[in-house]
Order: sequence, then C-alpha cells, then structure tokens
Amino acid sequence: MKCSKCGREAVYHARYTGRYYCRKHFNEMVEKKFKETVKKYRLIAKGERIAVGVSGGKDSVVLMHLLAKLREKFPFELVAITIDEGIAGYRPPSVGIARRNAEKLGIEHRIYSFKNHIGFTLDETVEIMGSFEKGERVGACSYCGVWRRWLLNYAAKDVGADKLAVGHNLDDEVQMFMMNIMRGDIARLGRTGPYYEEIHPELVPRIKPLREIPEKEIVLYAILNGIEVDFSECPYAVEAFRAEIRDWINEMEERHPGTKYQILRSYDKLFPLIAKTYTKRTSELNRCKICGQPTTGEICKACSFRIQVEEKSKGHELHTPP
Ligand SMILES: [Zn+2]
Ligand SMILES: [Zn+2]
Repeated sequence: MKCSKCGREAVYHARYTGRYYCRKHFNEMVEKKFKETVKKYRLIAKGERIAVGVSGGKDSVVLMHLLAKLREKFPFELVAITIDEGIAGYRPPSVGIARRNAEKLGIEHRIYSFKNHIGFTLDETVEIMGSFEKGERVGACSYCGVWRRWLLNYAAKDVGADKLAVGHNLDDEVQMFMMNIMRGDIARLGRTGPYYEEIHPELVPRIKPLREIPEKEIVLYAILNGIEVDFSECPYAVEAFRAEIRDWINEMEERHPGTKYQILRSYDKLFPLIAKTYTKRTSELNRCKICGQPTTGEICKACSFRIQVEEKSKGHELHTPP
C-alpha cells in the first residue's frame, strides 16, 4: 500500500482512520499526537524542570526521546530517573538501556534503588515474604507498585522536578479505565487523567504525554528510529485480570476500529467530574509520620510495607545475592 499523504511505500496502516503512512509521515503523525497532548492540556510550561521516569522499556524510552526532541524548540529542563527494584536478570540490562539512551540524548540520568531507599530489593522482599502464612500473602506486584510510586515521587522531588512524566500509552490508559470501571473503583480514576491535578505540595504532579498513542505505534516508532529498548517482561508480572481486559479490548478494536480512542474520550469527559468528586486535597491528607509523603492515614502504604518486611526479616538469613 501507498502512503495516504505522499504516495511512497507505506509502513503502517492506522485502521482507526483508514490512513496509510510511509516512514516519514508515520514519525510526523506520532510526534504530532505527542506534541498536541502536551499543548492541549498545558502539560509542560517553558523553563520547567521535568523528570521523566525511564524503566528502559519501549514506552518510557520513546517518551524520553520525544521529550528531548520537543525541548529543541521549546526550552525546558529534562532529567531522567530510573527505579532499580532489584530484580536479578531483568533489571540490570534495562537499567543499562535507560542509561545509554539518556547518554545519547545528553540527558542527566539518576538511578534510585529499592535497596538504598527502602532497604530491600524486590527479590529479597519476595524471599522474605514468600514464607508468609496463609492470609498474609500479598503478591510481589503489590510491594513493587507501592514502593515504585513512592520512590518515583521521592526521586522527582529529590531532583527538584516540577512534574513527573510517565510513559503510559493509549492501551495502558484504556485498560486502566476499564479495569477500574469493572472493579467499581471510580475514585482511582480521579488521580491522573488527561491533565494533571495539583493534589499536595509533597506530591509531584504526574503527566502522561503518550496517552493518545497506541502501544503498536510506540513499538513501531522505536523500531523505525533505531531506538534501543527493552522488550523483556518482568518475571513477577502476573496480572491475569489486566491481560483478560487487554485481549478483550484488542478484540473490540479489531472488530470496531477506533474503540480505544472512544473509550479514552469517555474517560476524558468523565475525568473532571470524577476528580472534583473524589480527589483528596491537601486539607484532607496527612503527612506520613515516617517519610512525610501524603497519606490518608498516619503512616503511608510504602512505609507500612517496609515495616512489615523489616519485622519479617528479623532472624531471616537472606539467600539472594546483594
Ligand atoms: Zn508519506
Ligand atoms: Zn511514609
């Protein structure tokens, strides 16, 4: 097939619009969607310091490249943050990929590890908590998710960032929306939608400049532009429910192209209402007695998880190499 714009050989067919794209016009289309998302919701202001969370995976690495490109025309500061959860065999190569990409783009890169900032790697946590008696067991992903969120916020503050950019793409966003709808957890949808909300002075606002770009297009963008990314999956990832939702949405998209964008548009329309009703404000939030990050209780989830693991680790000899 030929590019709908210039007639050159097409490399991509966007079924949701019916258009074909050559390599050059595909790149233009992706970059335009990214720029328009930033512009439409004023995600970045001139001169701001933006931290970008880079795991080494396709989304975050492509996000860093697009931000670096945007910065050429629209000056702002950029610093890359990588969280090292301490997962043997999986993290070391992806941290290397994040570092090499940042180096190539001339972006300052900082690594924050679970080991240094929480006290345990994820592997150690699984080893310690794995012997949990019935009813106490919480999966590795629960610890990892809570700690990563906490440490990303800590890191963003530590580097003096005004905002934290994360690599959520269209598919992530639509899956998250549908998952929370199906669980009846509407409050969770009020946290970060199309634009950011200033919730608490200790919480660096999150922005998601890739939320209008399908996963497929991010993969192709990385390949076409020779960007080194990590395609491997976390060995602990077993989110069965999310996988079902993903397959179901992909099937609907296949049969009814444009479904994902329609779901996103619904979310965008609902977001202001949800945020207004459910988002907790500074006045309703406490500072964690241990770390100072915002929480609804006395001690935040990240600190209470850490205390749990510390308690359990007493008298436990670690087998995982440091
Ligand atoms: Zn073309
Ligand atoms: Zn805390």
